[in-house]
Amino acid sequence: MIRPILRHGAEVLHAPAAPVVDVTPDVQTLIDDMIQTMYAAPGIGLAATQVGVAKRIFVADISVGRNAADLVAFINPEFVERDGMQLEDEGCLSVPGFNATVARPSRVVLKGLDRHGHEQTIEGTGLLARCFQHEMDHLDGMVFVDRLRGLQKDLIVRKIKKLARLGKW
Ligand SMILES: [Zn+2]
Repeated sequence: MIRPILRHGAEVLHAPAAPVVDVTPDVQTLIDDMIQTMYAAPGIGLAATQVGVAKRIFVADISVGRNAADLVAFINPEFVERDGMQLEDEGCLSVPGFNATVARPSRVVLKGLDRHGHEQTIEGTGLLARCFQHEMDHLDGMVFVDRLRGLQKDLIVRKIKKLARLGKW
């Protein structure tokens, strides 16, 4: 089932998510729905908080469905390693219409559970590293706009508030 994607301003997007205690059938259904929602958007990653569930789960596929091996589901992910630096343009399904350059490490290693509750460790470089960090931010209640500074951040936040006032957000 495709779930509605919440936008910047929704409370659940701005608060840290709680760890998953048990990988229950409900968690399986949530992950299935998140994958479907991510592909329908389309996007390369989606965190549970974006569909209104305050749990530490995200899905990602930098091939957007073109390569089945690229589909990743992470439950309770944690950083094991982070190094390097990359500067690339970034956007978010919860902040449609806005993009900005965000500095991120160029390589990360994440450890957590896969969708069946088995331990997994995955290394990401380049776009996958960026995607992993973007989704990890969501689980900590942070949106990419929060990573921006000064004028750039103010401008986006002001535009969002204006759209919200006009009922267009
Ligand atoms: Zn996002």
